[in-house]
Amino acid sequence: MVGKVLVIGGGIAGMSAAILLRRGGAAVDLVEMDPAWRVYGAGITITGPTLRALRAVGVLDAVLAQGAAWSGGTVFSKTGEFIADLSTTPVEEGIPATGGVMRPVLHAVLSETTRQVGVDVRLGVTVEALHQAGEAVEVATSDGEQRTYDLVIGADGIFSTTRKAIFPDAPEPRFTGQACWRLLAERPPGFDRSHFYMGGDKKIGFNPVSPTHMYMFLLEHTPDDPWIDLADQPARLHALMEGFGGIVPGIREGVLANPTINYRPLKILLQPPPWNVGRVVLIGDAVHATTPHLASGAGMAVEDAVVLAEELARGGDVEAALERFTGRRFDRCRMVVENSVRLGELEMTGGSPQEHNTLMAASITALRQAI
Ligand SMILES: Cc1cc2nc3c(=O)[nH]c(=O)nc-3n(C[C@H](O)[C@H](O)[C@H](O)COP(=O)(O)OP(=O)(O)OC[C@H]3O[C@@H](n4cnc5c(N)ncnc54)[C@H](O)[C@@H]3O)c2cc1C
Repeated sequence: MVGKVLVIGGGIAGMSAAILLRRGGAAVDLVEMDPAWRVYGAGITITGPTLRALRAVGVLDAVLAQGAAWSGGTVFSKTGEFIADLSTTPVEEGIPATGGVMRPVLHAVLSETTRQVGVDVRLGVTVEALHQAGEAVEVATSDGEQRTYDLVIGADGIFSTTRKAIFPDAPEPRFTGQACWRLLAERPPGFDRSHFYMGGDKKIGFNPVSPTHMYMFLLEHTPDDPWIDLADQPARLHALMEGFGGIVPGIREGVLANPTINYRPLKILLQPPPWNVGRVVLIGDAVHATTPHLASGAGMAVEDAVVLAEELARGGDVEAALERFTGRRFDRCRMVVENSVRLGELEMTGGSPQEHNTLMAASITALRQAI
């Protein structure tokens, strides 16, 4: 195990890595640029493999205590006619098949654990300079500190400045042609599993996130990537939900006054190996940002942390451990990004439902494999 580690970015990837490395005996500093360490208020699906990874980080019970767990889903036509039942089974004994939670709840569990295990967290702080000298990385931060580390982990998200610093020619995030609308609503009576409504180039889904609430997502084809003013978002979403059946009209009724609407154009990024230069390594969205079609971006971020901690714990040369880490992660993360993009393309172009279902099933089967 390495002695002194800096984690840049206090998102799901950075916090998971900080917790595991600190528990493994490293002295860990974490710098997060947001002085308030906030996260936006949408729901997040935690699939079986993600639940397995959260268990490895030691936070599964705390997350599920405030989230929701369920099994399976139902697919409907746009107007609400039944199309198919989806079944999901747990990836391992003792883990629910699927779960959901509000992002602020997951963030609170991870950030409280990060502090409890003794990670030194500095908020409102970014990295100004990284310099590698032999086996040490010298880091200057925006709060005037100069410290030396054995390992630096860039977990600073899709627009990672650590990535730009170590890979100046890395690919830029790419817009996929879709945008995702999300909101939070009360669960209607009897709602206890995922619901999906297939509306041509628009798709609406609902997932539980707590005993009382669910989140809705709507995927829209937006080839021009329009800017939508905050004030105009409720009316636009209200219009997009027109014509959908099932439980959608009940939610649509309250959309104009719903304060939880979140709009996000979908961008992806896949960094080819290597993911490290010397003793600076990237994890999470900084190297593999995906669309939500397989609900696995956060899961991949947590898995990165688990595998990185495992490889470092094997001891020996640190750079060799970072190469083994990337070797174990790249194909799996590439599969998630590429298959998610393809699922989005099929939605945007009205592609074959058969291809969509086959790709979805193959991806889920692959994700269930041990990491
Ligand atoms: C619409 C949408 C829906 C999604 N739904 C799901 C889902 O249901 N399930 C799922 O598993 N995944 C989902 N994802 C993916 C998931 O949100 C991401 O994969 C995950 O948040 C990535 O975590 P991260 O820690 O790598 O990056 P981030 O969450 O982006 O965290 C990066 C952190 O670094 C900080 N930071 C940035 N720059 C610096 C800097 N220079 N210095 C210090 N700190 C810095 C940021 O403030 C932030 O706190 C979804 C994504 C989208 C877009």
